[in-house]
Amino acid sequence: MLQQTTVAAVIPRFEKWMRRFPTVRVLAAAGETEVLKHWQGLGYYRRARDLHRTASIIVTKYAGRFPRDPVTLRSLPGFGQYTAAALQAFAWDRPVTVIDANIARVLARIENLKAPIDKAPGRKALEEIAEKLAPGGGRGGRIHTSALMDLGATICTARAPSCPRCPVRQFCKATNPASLPRKAARSAATPIEETRAWVMRGGRIGLVPSPGPRWRGLWVFPMAPAITEKPPLHVETHTVTRFRIRMALVKAGSPPPGTRFFSPDDLPPMPSPHARAASAVLRKIPTASIMPRAR
Ligand code: SF4
Repeated sequence: MLQQTTVAAVIPRFEKWMRRFPTVRVLAAAGETEVLKHWQGLGYYRRARDLHRTASIIVTKYAGRFPRDPVTLRSLPGFGQYTAAALQAFAWDRPVTVIDANIARVLARIENLKAPIDKAPGRKALEEIAEKLAPGGGRGGRIHTSALMDLGATICTARAPSCPRCPVRQFCKATNPASLPRKAARSAATPIEETRAWVMRGGRIGLVPSPGPRWRGLWVFPMAPAITEKPPLHVETHTVTRFRIRMALVKAGSPPPGTRFFSPDDLPPMPSPHARAASAVLRKIPTASIMPRAR
């Protein structure tokens, strides 16, 4: 949940998630629609689908216990190098190298690494630094990784590192810590305009299944021909990878094929931009245009 999402946003969602899905067995037994609904608002829905698929694999193939072999771990849905390493460090105390944003910053500063860390040579250099600092003796990954994460979160912070009170300052080679780590310059986001249809029938909102893959299993507003004469009901802007998407929601009379209608009180799982747009329009339009509710 914490990938690409702030701790403050995650805490209540994590607690709610754990109340509903306290074990891998409970998660594996749940339907995908309910899993996606519990993820709504966190974005990057692939993470929820991967968690769900991994839970099913753990239950059906590994009798409910996570495999400890790193290669097998990496074969599970959603398990890249970072997740596999984090599980090994925190769950089993293995002295593996875990590199998240906080740790990358600390490591780059300790060795005064000038290469951009989002390019292959810089990434490799970062991994070499991490390996050099990893604890020996076959264990200790849990406290080592926690210490590096906490150092990055509380003292070696991005904008104003507190070097005078840093416990590792005697080893640190950074000459201008605030300038590190370096990253390659990003190209500007490509703007995209899209028009989607707001269509209602009997007080219900028309949605279509997302063709995926990013939003597979979620429901979205149907695409509509661009309408320029009237102002849209709502405009929602969001970013997907390198695209800046401006979605204009316009009132439409007839639903496109495949549209299903849902009560505003019981909408299916929707990606965040579409869910936000639905809430915004429902707040704006007069109640009379929603009523009577279909029964
Ligand atoms: S001395 Fe400063 S730059 Fe170096 S690790 Fe500590 S806080 Fe970061």
